[in-house]
Amino acid sequence: METSILSGLEASKALYSSLESRISHLKDHGIIPGLAAVLVGNNPASEIYVKNKTKKFESLGLKTDVFRLEETVSEDELLSLISKLNTDSEFHGILVQLPLPKHIDSEKVLNAIIPTKDVDGFHPENAGLLSIGKPRFVPCTPKGIMFILKHFNIDLNGKHVVVIGRSNIVGRPISILASLKDLGNATVTLCHSGTKDLKYFSKQADVLVAALGSPEFVDSSYIKEGACLVDVGINRIEVEGNSKIVGDVNQDSVTGIASSLTPVPKGVGPMTIAMLVENTVLSAELLLN
Ligand code: NDP
Repeated sequence: METSILSGLEASKALYSSLESRISHLKDHGIIPGLAAVLVGNNPASEIYVKNKTKKFESLGLKTDVFRLEETVSEDELLSLISKLNTDSEFHGILVQLPLPKHIDSEKVLNAIIPTKDVDGFHPENAGLLSIGKPRFVPCTPKGIMFILKHFNIDLNGKHVVVIGRSNIVGRPISILASLKDLGNATVTLCHSGTKDLKYFSKQADVLVAALGSPEFVDSSYIKEGACLVDVGINRIEVEGNSKIVGDVNQDSVTGIASSLTPVPKGVGPMTIAMLVENTVLSAELLLN
């Protein structure tokens, strides 16, 4: 079987072009969608993530500022910055890059972001809206996965979607989105480290979402022929002294057995950034309603 590649780059381009008219409509009303990115400390991976995100905003003519704080910043100082950004009309979205230093309570900080600027979709109010089937700001990675599947005409209706991983940023929200009547309308199984006999479930999947954070974990023995595989993982491994990024799926092993597959890199990753832009535009549009 030929395994088709579900390119996140291609899907993200389609999303950006659909955003053009929405952005120019906002500009006609004097609104330039703006993102405030808060970066604490000097974690090299966080630096790269924030740079990639802000670069994209700049290339689209949107506003973005990075607020850099020392690793030693106190929780109160960080909360006071969030409080200022909550009322700053130039920013429609606030992003706090994780992880935060250990002395800071991340949950407290994320919950301090006003829900209408919570473009990462992590606030309990937005998580609650999603879980009752009224999504407002949906976490970017699962939202991006739904977009890729739709872009490549992979219909979830009546299918069995199996998700490996139950984090609040990927696994749990994608399982909810896929199950919602107006969105996926799929039958969903959510697996995690407590799942007994993971292969029993994964081999039933019409669509398998691998979001467990374990390099190349899912090989051909975990899937059925013709399955669609969504590889969310971003894992850095060393190969012969060189560092390399791989997903949670062993892509060589499943090629020829899966019907389609999101690559790593250039699969789910670009969609995550694209959806951050979309959520920020959506937040700015709330001002017009
Ligand atoms: P977390 O570590 O928060 O969650 C991992 C989940 O996988 C947990 O629910 C855990 O179970 C489960 N799990 C771990 N090992 C196994 C196993 N052997 N069998 C079954 N379940 C298992 O990770 P994230 O959700 O934050 O991220 C997952 C992956 O996606 C990572 O590689 C991350 O880098 C990547 N990622 C990629 C993004 C992108 O833009 N492409 C964005 C965000 C993340 P339990 O709950 O029991 O611990």
